[in-house]
Amino acid sequence: MSAPLNVTVWNEFRHERKNPAVAAIYPTGIHGAIAGFLAPDAGLRVRTATLDEPEHGLPAAVVAETDVLVWWGHTAHAEVADAVVERVRRRVLEGMGLIVLHSGHYSKIFKALMGTTCSLRWRESGDRERVWTVAPSHPIARGVGESFAIPVEEMYGEPFGIPEPEELVFVSWFSGGEVFRSGCAWRRGHGRVFYFQPGHETYPIYHQPEVQRVIANAVRWAAPTVRIPDNCPNPPPPEPPV
Ligand code: ZN
Repeated sequence: MSAPLNVTVWNEFRHERKNPAVAAIYPTGIHGAIAGFLAPDAGLRVRTATLDEPEHGLPAAVVAETDVLVWWGHTAHAEVADAVVERVRRRVLEGMGLIVLHSGHYSKIFKALMGTTCSLRWRESGDRERVWTVAPSHPIARGVGESFAIPVEEMYGEPFGIPEPEELVFVSWFSGGEVFRSGCAWRRGHGRVFYFQPGHETYPIYHQPEVQRVIANAVRWAAPTVRIPDNCPNPPPPEPPV
C-alpha cells in the first residue's frame, strides 16, 4: 500500500467566530467540515491549519510535508504574511497540489500563482446555481454526473480575471442569468492547482455530497507526482569535450 497523502485544510476561520449563523452551519469551522468529509478516506492523512495560529498553521515543516493544500479565505487575505505565501508558492512549484475554494480567488497565494487580477462579478442575492460538468472524463468530475444544483449560492460571474484554464472541468449557471468558469485547473511548476467556486460561508454548501465529491476528487488529482526543489545549476557538459 502506498503512503497516505498528507492533506492540509487551511481556513481563515473568522466568519465562524464572528457570525453565529455561520457557526451554526459550520460548528467546527469550514476547515473542520472539509477535513471531516475527507478524513474517512484511509488513503489521506488530514490536518487543518488556520490564520490565527502561529505562522497561520503553516510553518516550514508543515508545508514541507504537505502533499495537497486546500485553501479557504475571504475577509483577511491581507493578513496572510507574505513569507508564508512565498513558502506555499515555492512548494507548489516543487510539486505540491493546491485546491483554492470560493473567495480564495482573491487570496495572495492564488493571485501570485495566476499572475492576473482574479477579479470577478459577484452578488449576494440568493441565486440558485447549476454546476455543469464540461469535462466528464476528467478525474475531478468522476461520479459527479452531468450537472447538479446548489439551491442557494452567492453569484460569481464572468468575466473571471484568470489565465486561460489549462483544463476547464465545470461551468456554472446562476438564476440571475450569469455564467462562471467554476472549476478550473492549471499546472504551476511541478504542482497542480484547481480552483472550485462553490462555498459561500452563509450557506451549507460544504455539507452537500456533490461538492464534497468534487473536492475529494480534486485532492486526489492534485497529488504530487514529483518533488523537485528549485535550482539553477551550472554543470560541466555530460559529454566529454571534443
Ligand atoms: Zn462568498
